[in-house]
Amino acid sequence: MTTSSTPLADSTEEHDALSRLAGRLGVPHLADCVHCGLCLASCPTYLTTGVEMSSPRGRIAMVRALGEGRGGFSPEFVRHLDQCLGCLACQTACPSGVVYGHALEGAREVVEHQYDRPPADRGMRWLLVHLFPYPHRLRRVLYGLFWYQRLGISRVVRGTRLLSLFSTRLARMEALLPSVPRPSDWRSLPTVTAAVGKQRGRVGFLTGCAQRFLLPHLNRATVRVLTAAGYQVVVPAEQGCCGALHLHSGDLAEARRQAKAMIATFERDAVDFVVVNAAGCGAAMKEYGHLLAGEVEWHDRAETFSAKVRDVSEIVAGMSWNGRLRPLPVSVTYHEACHLAHAQQIRAEPRSMLRGIPGLRLVELTESDVCCGSAGIYNLLQPEMAGRLLTRKVDRIREADTDFVAAGNIGCLLQIQLGLRQAGSRTLAVHPVELVDWALHGMPGGEPRGNSGKPRERRTLNVER
Ligand code: SF4
Ligand code: SF4
Repeated sequence: MTTSSTPLADSTEEHDALSRLAGRLGVPHLADCVHCGLCLASCPTYLTTGVEMSSPRGRIAMVRALGEGRGGFSPEFVRHLDQCLGCLACQTACPSGVVYGHALEGAREVVEHQYDRPPADRGMRWLLVHLFPYPHRLRRVLYGLFWYQRLGISRVVRGTRLLSLFSTRLARMEALLPSVPRPSDWRSLPTVTAAVGKQRGRVGFLTGCAQRFLLPHLNRATVRVLTAAGYQVVVPAEQGCCGALHLHSGDLAEARRQAKAMIATFERDAVDFVVVNAAGCGAAMKEYGHLLAGEVEWHDRAETFSAKVRDVSEIVAGMSWNGRLRPLPVSVTYHEACHLAHAQQIRAEPRSMLRGIPGLRLVELTESDVCCGSAGIYNLLQPEMAGRLLTRKVDRIREADTDFVAAGNIGCLLQIQLGLRQAGSRTLAVHPVELVDWALHGMPGGEPRGNSGKPRERRTLNVER
């Protein structure tokens, strides 16, 4: 491991090693960059700091310099790379077709293997990547956190700001924690749920590592909507993680292991599509072909699997409900999750889903596709930048002044809920598919879960059931 800022290779003996490093860094993906700077205005970290090295062009220059032997690892290099959200807004904006996302994955893998992080940083990263993608571990931790909240310890900790005395990151993690649903709500979804009426197809459904515990009502709503749309829904019991967290953290070997397990799991059932309601997971699963490109026996399977992956909005947007949607007289603004808008280029479908609901008034959100600062575990690792982006997002949402803000990703929902709660806003963060579910079936228990963890007052929504 090195923390040196000395160029890695300035001798011919190291040329081969340098070529390999350039490949692993993803330099070939950056070769098309002409330094035009057209991506700068879309980059959240550049918008926030105004610093060139915090822009896509600056990061590309750093990574290329390293891969070409003109630069070395330094804390500055790693800091600017760590600060990247991986939101891919730059990729959308780039007219030269630079595949920044693949280069970022390669660069992060090299950093994780060759750079010696400070112990606290290393420890926090180790903890997060060994917890979130493993449902069995997460379940135990969340069980403890449920009682931590239920017994009122959380209120005392937040009120006294006790955790910030020890660690900003820990305080941030605690603040991000939504009201943990009762463990009895974590019950698994049925392995097979029949279509309502005439069956039009059979889909698999990804329940997500954290989502199955933190937002179980969202998964149930998704299954209800899919079955109402005529799909039989298959939920494999032993599904693990999609690998997104490891992919974005530079552990490509573990991401590949998880991708293979996911492919094998869904291959056991013949399904037309694999439906996902979390943008980050869907984006990773659509890239399995690239992730497993070098593995002969897996590549074709990965391509076949990825071709079946659909965000739930891609399935629901085109639905003709034949008058089955009841009026939902609420106002909604829509935040575009980065891994939906930029990574999957899905923009029209969620809006179309929402516009299809009678009575719903959709208000366009200014800067709807600027990252909210969530970005997987970014908000836990980079709390300051994440906080600044969240404030910017909440300001825009408050300008829209709607009952709800819809977002198609669990990370965005938790992050935005936190911002709205801290700002004292009455706007609630929900997934677009929940709104469709409410229009189809009424609101579960009469009330949606609120950003304060409490039920929303019915009279505010004036929803007919
Ligand atoms: S990444 Fe694309 S948009 Fe950004 S500077 Fe390079 S060529 Fe220009
Ligand atoms: S991925 Fe997002 S944060 Fe990173 S350089 Fe691109 S636009 Fe900026």
